[in-house]
Amino acid sequence: MTDLNTLDNESLTKLNAELLRKYDSLKAKKLSLDMSRGKPCPEQLDLSMDLLDIASSKELLRANESLDIRNYGGVEGLIEAKKLFGQILHVNPNEIIIGGNSSLSMMHDTISRALLNGVVDSDIPWGKEPKIKFLCPSPGYDRHFAICEMYNIEMITIDMLDDGPDMDKIEELVSKDESIKGIWCVPKYSNPDGITYSDEVVSRLAKMQTKATDFKIFWDDAYTVHHLTEQPPVLKNILKECKEEGHPNRVFMFTSTSKITFPGSGIAAMAASEENINFIKKQLSVQTIGPDKINQLRHVLFLQDLENITLHMKKHAEIIKPKFDMVLNILESELGRYNIASWSKPKGGYFISLNTLDGCATEVVKLASDVGVSLTQAGATYPYGKDPRDRNIRIAPTFPTLAELQTAIEIVCLCVLLASTKKLL
Ligand code: PLP
Repeated sequence: MTDLNTLDNESLTKLNAELLRKYDSLKAKKLSLDMSRGKPCPEQLDLSMDLLDIASSKELLRANESLDIRNYGGVEGLIEAKKLFGQILHVNPNEIIIGGNSSLSMMHDTISRALLNGVVDSDIPWGKEPKIKFLCPSPGYDRHFAICEMYNIEMITIDMLDDGPDMDKIEELVSKDESIKGIWCVPKYSNPDGITYSDEVVSRLAKMQTKATDFKIFWDDAYTVHHLTEQPPVLKNILKECKEEGHPNRVFMFTSTSKITFPGSGIAAMAASEENINFIKKQLSVQTIGPDKINQLRHVLFLQDLENITLHMKKHAEIIKPKFDMVLNILESELGRYNIASWSKPKGGYFISLNTLDGCATEVVKLASDVGVSLTQAGATYPYGKDPRDRNIRIAPTFPTLAELQTAIEIVCLCVLLASTKKLL
């Protein structure tokens, strides 16, 4: 082990010069590698091509007897689709609304409705309150934070611990401050740390006393079936827990088939208590005469049930697990001995979270970008794009080929070493 933190200045200077030479030679290669967003690779998309043919005939389009799915109507979605998502989220079909192609847009719309009209238990619309705040376990999903930023919802950073967000801090804050109206959670294989919330964290979120009577948990279960191991962790059912704790209306759950079938052409769903669902349905029926039921039927016929989805997701894992393994092996072999970085070893989801020495993440992302490797912007995983320790980098290994990934990660490691030696000098 060569702990860089204990290396003398002369050795560090020598190492830094060596690394710089290596780095400069990369510029001539004119690389263009993108590891910035968690997108499935083409081979993953190929797994769902049969979806496109499955509902092409008139017979299939008429498969749903109660409703001609080619026509308007069915604002909350096909019952078959609600049953399918009921299995995925472990809730009753009556507790589901099927949306359009994106769970993010359902989350966005849920917040904007709350701002304009309040939620089921609000006295006044959130937007009429003098100030509202959201708790943001971080590192977290940048697009959640972007919604808050756009709507001027103040974000409070909450540390992520090994089993989920810091519950002591959350309980303390929500018990005192009635302007805290919500919390963002990615409870399974969190983006980017890959953490699954422990039973205790789920129970405490359901149970805690909140000063705001209309406090809501935004439970973004985007990666609920996206396992990379044979023995996936089990996430406690938050809706059930909230009901048992006497707070049935506290949680809005979201998920989608974006990374099961086709991102952008999948289907999304939200789940909540029937009271919440009925409240939202009324507003939705003003917004639309009905969602794309043909796509819902295609998904129902293709995905069938949870058992079949599990088999389908194993095929995804066969494609992407070698990529995760490669990244982890390279991180270990290139950085493991220097004591300058740590990283997550996820059991599912789409990301590896890399922490550099404090103050180095921005520099690493810039160095990598200057030689053609784009990473998610440093800071993006924190509210307002500001990582207080400037150390977190989100690595998205799924899209590049294995060969591209190898080159990209070796370069990232070189950039981490370069930035670290510079900082320590
Ligand atoms: N939620 C999380 C945590 C994500 O990481 C992503 C995509 O990366 C999404 C939601 C987007 O989901 P959708 O495609 O359903 O809008």
